[in-house]
Amino acid sequence: MPPIAAKFVELYGAQPDVIASAPGRVNLIGEHVDFLDGFVLPFAISDVTTVAIAKNSSNSIRVASLQKASEISVVERSKLEPLSGEPWTRYPIGVLWALEIDSGLDILIDGQVPLGAGLSSSAALECAVATAVNELFKLNLPLPTLARAAQKGENIYVGMPCGIMDQSVSLMAKQGHALLLDTRDLSTEQIPFDIAPHHLELLVIDTQVHHALVDGGYAERRASCEKAVSDLGITSLRDISLTDFVLRKSELDATTYARAFHGVTEMQRVLDAVELLKSADFRGFGKIVSAAHISLRDNYTVSAPELDLAVTTALEFGALGARMIGGGFGGSAIALVSAQDAELVRLQITSSFSAAKFRAPRFFSPLPSSGARITDLTTPH
Ligand code: ADP
Ligand code: MG
Repeated sequence: MPPIAAKFVELYGAQPDVIASAPGRVNLIGEHVDFLDGFVLPFAISDVTTVAIAKNSSNSIRVASLQKASEISVVERSKLEPLSGEPWTRYPIGVLWALEIDSGLDILIDGQVPLGAGLSSSAALECAVATAVNELFKLNLPLPTLARAAQKGENIYVGMPCGIMDQSVSLMAKQGHALLLDTRDLSTEQIPFDIAPHHLELLVIDTQVHHALVDGGYAERRASCEKAVSDLGITSLRDISLTDFVLRKSELDATTYARAFHGVTEMQRVLDAVELLKSADFRGFGKIVSAAHISLRDNYTVSAPELDLAVTTALEFGALGARMIGGGFGGSAIALVSAQDAELVRLQITSSFSAAKFRAPRFFSPLPSSGARITDLTTPH
């Protein structure tokens, strides 16, 4: 019996019907373009969130998490309402709400994805629940539909205006690959990113800082990109070439231009990065990753001193490429480093942070792994 099943029995007094797991993710390139119909290139990490679920014959949903002291929260099925209930329970329950599941359920969660480190523990949790109920109720929903449901749960039930990237890669990833996702139509292509045999490591540097700007700053930049689309009279920043965009500079105010410039160039960087990965040119790929950081810092203006220091230190000590990831104003950065330089880069970043009197960073070295899966309960564990 998998360990979570034993805990489930302890808590609810019955066996789970289904156990499913889904991973967190790292986005290699394509930052702040998932709401612009852009391309993104994330990979799934090996850390997963696991959920065990069983139907119950009551009118309530009971949910507990090993990361929340296993305390059971009980929600009446007739009272499922966006933004209601204890905040963390909105992530799993939002998925049930989005999929219109009409049954009493017992749910236990065990998440191994670090929370709030920019690795998307939220999508891992949502996608584990979506995968489990898809199996339990034989819904046979295709993965893009499950991704949309998980996103709808987070957007409306949790109240977080996230894009579709995290859920898509958590459900569709393939080991040793990154997922090229077109956020316009959710079409995908698996792109080789098998770093270990190339003696490379993808370092995630979690600065553990979150500057206060984060909510307003994010919305304001998104609004700038939408303003550029409307001022230029186009359908999307996806639909203008860089040449045309630059030629029409005088039609936009300076801030709108700079922020939209990030969007237009970032989409092209993703496509260029994909071509380089297809020919295993990691050095060329690294240069594009670093160019993305410059654009996030100078055009989109969402970096932070901690992120800039992590990136410059990594590059100074041999990283092939480095950039901030996620919303910005704090959070994490990534650096692609040769395996033999990884320890030196970690040490140098730690000491540069200490010299700058920044909080000590955390490091992760995730490997590109496969997406959501069901645990077979018929084979012995
Ligand atoms: P990230 O997705 O980058 O890790 P978020 O703030 O989007 O950060 O999501 C983290 C939130 O998701 C947590 O604060 C918690 O509410 C919820 N969550 C994620 N994993 C778990 C878990 N294993 N148990 C309970 N809640 C979880
Ligand atoms: Mg999240």
